Amino acid sequence: MQLVGIAKAAQAATLLEAKRTVTYSHLATGKWINRVADSRHSFDWSINPYRGCEMACQYCYARYTHEFMELRAPDDFETRIFAKVWNAVEFRRELTRVPRSQAIALGTATDPYQHAERRYELTRRMLEVFAIESGRKFWITTKSDLPTRDIDLLQRVAQRNVLYLNFTITTIDVELARGLEPKAPRPDLRLAALAALTASGIRCGAIVSPVLPGINDGEAELLALAERAKQAGATWFGGGVLFLKSPTREIFLAYLEREHPLLVRRYQKTFASAARPSREYHQIIEARFERIRRQVGLSRKATSYLPPDWEQGNQMALAL
Ligand code: SF4
Repeated sequence: MQLVGIAKAAQAATLLEAKRTVTYSHLATGKWINRVADSRHSFDWSINPYRGCEMACQYCYARYTHEFMELRAPDDFETRIFAKVWNAVEFRRELTRVPRSQAIALGTATDPYQHAERRYELTRRMLEVFAIESGRKFWITTKSDLPTRDIDLLQRVAQRNVLYLNFTITTIDVELARGLEPKAPRPDLRLAALAALTASGIRCGAIVSPVLPGINDGEAELLALAERAKQAGATWFGGGVLFLKSPTREIFLAYLEREHPLLVRRYQKTFASAARPSREYHQIIEARFERIRRQVGLSRKATSYLPPDWEQGNQMALAL
C-alpha cells in the first residue's frame, strides 16, 4: 500500500529516542523465606518478593543478583523485573518453620514497595498473612512512599507483632536524589510517608544507605536530613557506607563521570582493590552519625517495645 499524507510522514520520521521499556515476568520460587547467615544483622530471616528493581539506584549493590539468571546487560536489573508467583499455602507453611523468637526482614535485597508492587501486591499479601500472626518481629525496609497504601494492614500487623519500618533516605536534595535514584519517589515524599506511618502508630526510622564519600556525607547535610526525619516522627537514624563491586562499580563510575566528574579519580582509587572505603572513613562517619543523633535526639537503633496485644506466654527477648 502506498502511504500518503501523515502516514507517509510517520514512516519517514527520524527516530529521536527509543525509551527504555520495563518488562514484568512471573517467576516460580522454591523458597519465600530465607535464613540470614550474617549474625551482624538485626534479623534472622529475609524475604524479597521481587527480583530486580525499577527504582534504578545507581549504587544498588543488589544488581549482581540478576547475573544468577544470566541477565548481564547494564540495565537488566532495573528493566527486567520478576514478581514471584504467589502461593499463600507455601508461604504460610514456611512461616510456621520460623521460630517466633527470630526476626524476619522484608526487603533485604530489593525493595518490597518498588513500582511492581502497585500491580502485583505481593508485599500486601504477605502483610495479610503477618496480620493473623502474633508474637513475631518484622522489619520492612523501603525507599518508597507506597507503604501509606497499607497503613490499615500495617496497623493490624503491629497490633500483635513487633513491627519496625526503615525508610531509606540518602539525601534531602531533590536534584541529587534524581541522579542517584532516578525512579525512586522523591525524598520529601518518603518523609511524608514516614510522617503518615508514625502518626498511625507504626515505629519508623530513617537510614542513610549508602553513605557516599564526597556526595552525601557532609555533616551539615546529614544533620538537616536527621532533623527532617525527627520532625516526621522517626525514632532512629543511621546509615551504612557504600559497598561497591562489579557490576555496580561500573554503573556507579559511569554515573560519577556524568554527575560528579571530579570524584571519579577518588572513587577509582578507593575502590580499586576493595569494595568498601577505609576503616578510618567508617570511623569518621560513625562518629558523625553519633554526634548528629545526640544533637537531634534520635537513637541508633529501634528501641524494644511490646505491641498492644502481645500474646501472653510468648514473651521473647526483644533485644536487638
Ligand atoms: S530501591 Fe533498593 S533495591 Fe531498588 S534499586 Fe534502589 S537500592 Fe536497589
